[in-house]
Amino acid sequence: MGSRIVILGGGTGGTLAANRLRRVVGDDVAVVVVDHDNSHVYQPGLLFVPFGLTHLDEIVRPRQHQFHRGIEFHQAAVDHVDLGAQQVLLEDGIALDYDVLVVATGATLLPEETEGLTGRGWMEKMFTFYTPPGAVALHDALAWFDEGRLVVGVVDLPIKCPVAPLEFCFLADWYFRQRGIRDRIELTYVTPLDGAFTTRVAAATLAGLLREKGVELVTEFNTGEVDGPGGRLISYDDREVGFDLAVMVPLHGGAPYVGRSPGLGDELNFVPTDEHTLQARSWPNVFVIGDAANVPTSKAGSVTHFEGEVLVENVRRFLAGEPLDRTFDGHSNCFIETGFSKALLIDFNYDTEPLPGHFPTSVGLPLLKESRLNHLGKLMFQWFYWHSLLPGRDIPGIGSAMPEHGKHREPAPL
Ligand SMILES: Cc1cc2nc3c(=O)[nH]c(=O)nc-3n(C[C@H](O)[C@H](O)[C@H](O)COP(=O)(O)OP(=O)(O)OC[C@H]3O[C@@H](n4cnc5c(N)ncnc54)[C@H](O)[C@@H]3O)c2cc1C
Repeated sequence: MGSRIVILGGGTGGTLAANRLRRVVGDDVAVVVVDHDNSHVYQPGLLFVPFGLTHLDEIVRPRQHQFHRGIEFHQAAVDHVDLGAQQVLLEDGIALDYDVLVVATGATLLPEETEGLTGRGWMEKMFTFYTPPGAVALHDALAWFDEGRLVVGVVDLPIKCPVAPLEFCFLADWYFRQRGIRDRIELTYVTPLDGAFTTRVAAATLAGLLREKGVELVTEFNTGEVDGPGGRLISYDDREVGFDLAVMVPLHGGAPYVGRSPGLGDELNFVPTDEHTLQARSWPNVFVIGDAANVPTSKAGSVTHFEGEVLVENVRRFLAGEPLDRTFDGHSNCFIETGFSKALLIDFNYDTEPLPGHFPTSVGLPLLKESRLNHLGKLMFQWFYWHSLLPGRDIPGIGSAMPEHGKHREPAPL
């Protein structure tokens, strides 16, 4: 009897891994994907929904249609994994045995973990654009919002696409200017970080852009409580930021079933993972892709895509009894929409922070600099997502490893 690879989660990582594996492993290896629903959301599109720049029906497609022939899709929620028995228990009562398990269940939003956030005012004056219903509700709220203080708040890290809340600020500035009411709106960005971003050079560039667009930056603010009726974010050290409309990025954790699977996850339900091989630290026949892993890079679709190459090669090597490929470098690449049909691009990995220059070589898209070309890149990316990334194809000229050429490094200190 042949082997069976079970992939938990049919989002970005699960889909691209399944499609790549189907091509790489022989016909005697079964590839099974489990997901609890049948709607695949292009999540980067959620940023544009509140501003009326796209609609849900343009960014959601049936999940089962994204899989190549020969892949089995099972629609059910995972209840837990029994690592010792090499078995996944589903909520519909079915047990799936596996030879290799790929964890691709992403990150889960935990708004109820912040006191008051889902209490009075939730989805009335406090929203998140990180879910489809939240993005749609926020669209309606923005349409009537014509005066007051709009606060964009990140509760804690890690979050999916750490630049998305900044993009929201830039687009909000654009949106209210288009409506001719920008002077009546105060925009504030609240972050637990000590700057606009995690790394030095990008933080300076992004803080400069916030300043230019008149967005106040509040740093080192760890939101402990949200007072909906009073319109206040309250930090653990008792500072307060008032709001009329709050756009929150809630706490993230791994999928709850991870916590019900002894040995699989950490205290946040993310899966401890070797950052270079993508093998789980718990068990050799478990591999992890995308936001579910605790690797020290961004939780982003681009990372998930770059991981795909190494992960699939390592599943093949594992089944063949060969030593694993240790080359995943944490490569992350992200367009940052800045409004007025412009965007920045950042490209980095575990060792190299986002730097200025060009991508993917010394001629190409400008890095850490606003341009229309980057904005077109951001818009075109959706096409690549459905037609290249999910089917498991490589993007020409862009490999898994971060390109070194084109980046302007500062001279080393003497
Ligand atoms: C607003 C927003 C903007 C973003 N913008 C960008 C961007 O510009 N660029 C970028 O690179 N990335 C961006 N991202 C991040 C990107 O979408 C994610 O990093 C990427 O989708 C991660 O892929 P994944 O496979 O790990 O998780 P997902 O694609 O989220 O897939 C996880 C899957 O697991 C399933 N699942 C979870 N629990 C269970 C269970 N118990 N049983 C069965 N199935 C389960 C879910 O239904 C889901 O289909 C953005 C994200 C958001 C929210």
